[in-house]
Amino acid sequence: MFQKMLINGELVGEDTKKTTIGIVNPSTEKTFARVPKGTKNHINKAVAAAKRAFPAWSQRPISERQAMVEKMADVVSNNAEMLARLLSKEQGKPMPEAMGEMGWTEGYLRHYASLQPSGRMIQNDDEFKIEVRRVPLGVVAGICPWNFPVLVPFWKIGPALVAGNTIVIKPAPTTPLTILKILELCNSFVPAGVINVVCDENDLGPMLTNHPDVAKVSFTGSSETGKKIMASAAGTVKRVTLELGGNDPAIVLPDVNVKETAAQIYGGAFLNAGQVCLAVKRVYAHAEIYDEFCNELATLAREAIVGDGLQQGSSIGPVQNKEQFKKVKALIKSADKDGTIMTGGVVKGKKGYFIKPIIVRDVKDGDDIVDKEQFGPILPVIRFKDIKKVGKKANASDYGLGASVWSGDVSKATKIASGIESGSVWVNQHINIGPHIPMAGFKTSGLGVEQSGEGLDEYTQIQVLNVAK
Ligand code: NAD
Repeated sequence: MFQKMLINGELVGEDTKKTTIGIVNPSTEKTFARVPKGTKNHINKAVAAAKRAFPAWSQRPISERQAMVEKMADVVSNNAEMLARLLSKEQGKPMPEAMGEMGWTEGYLRHYASLQPSGRMIQNDDEFKIEVRRVPLGVVAGICPWNFPVLVPFWKIGPALVAGNTIVIKPAPTTPLTILKILELCNSFVPAGVINVVCDENDLGPMLTNHPDVAKVSFTGSSETGKKIMASAAGTVKRVTLELGGNDPAIVLPDVNVKETAAQIYGGAFLNAGQVCLAVKRVYAHAEIYDEFCNELATLAREAIVGDGLQQGSSIGPVQNKEQFKKVKALIKSADKDGTIMTGGVVKGKKGYFIKPIIVRDVKDGDDIVDKEQFGPILPVIRFKDIKKVGKKANASDYGLGASVWSGDVSKATKIASGIESGSVWVNQHINIGPHIPMAGFKTSGLGVEQSGEGLDEYTQIQVLNVAK
């Protein structure tokens, strides 16, 4: 399979060994597709096309821009199964999760299509008419990770287009296929240059983040890269939205229903093989229920069916790429040294980056497995005794993306939750997100907001039109 890039409404790229990147199926470690290896020239052409398309696109009535976004939702929905198969093959996730990503993408796009930027009249009397307008910025660069290769680009394309901007998408090097396919399908109705996509080998991002004709960078990825992007964007004072890493704590009080809570936390930790920014990444379980809670998690982990995402019945797919597989393996080693691995581990004697879900107990704050973002199928459980101090332990992290507090007493849990330093804090649930709910990060987990009206406004610039009458 060879899938071209989209620049200025044209499908671009030549299928030769020198000019392409191989896409590896993480379940087989075999290259099954190729995409063009983007160059600096491609980036310049894509940005120039987006810049040319901007004046006409931004002047179109918002209803037409919303309708275009709605049409993209139709494309995703009408081709969901074919696209989900492709996604499962390149990303590794089981088909039900890949179908879920299509459903989410459709839902987010339909919601963006119903929004419009805020803006208001602050004075209109005999003397002055003062209007706060939300005007589009110009060319947006959308730089994306490999864990949700369809949803995340559309989290950027949807609001960017509704607000009147044009966009250049750079997918993650290991997962460009499905998004390229969808944008090819949308090319029949999206005007040339409004959406462009350029693939790379992890080398072209900096060119977008300091490009003089890019007005805003919307980035989703690691905190480490986010910091570099912020520095790079400073030269041209670009707007940046950064959705970065997380190390979400789940605090479990002694009065919970252990079985039910363990099942929900397990779901929140191992979705997408743990490769979710908002996954539960460390559990603080109260000493009174610690053993029982760890045992329940381990039972659930033992029941997991790890396998090729396309194989019916697989509940957990492989880690997405070789580099991440190596990182998780190093963390497993340190977890083995610092705590007790109750179950799970690297699947041996089989191709593919497979890891059976791991539950680690008897670990503490300061251990790598607790302090670092694992981004893989491994969950540490920490024992705590003092309910008054557990919030402080949860907050002792550079991250602040999501968190949850679990208790039979909702008001007690809510009180603890309100003191947690993270952009989303859930009570008796984890990862309840949606297009109408703003998503943001504290500390090194991010800058700015995505989703909802607040997220849409980030794709605009305030302009005050102040008329003396
Ligand atoms: P990454 O930071 O390595 O790469 C993300 C993207 O940035 C890729 O497209 C990459 O090619 C590009 N990139 C790399 N270096 C760059 C540079 N110097 N300048 C510009 N672009 C550059 O992240 P990843 O490994 O693909 O994704 C995993 C990370 O993403 C995790 O930390 C996870 O928590 C985070 N994430 C966050 C969210 C969120 O909404 N907060 C969502 C998904 C993933």
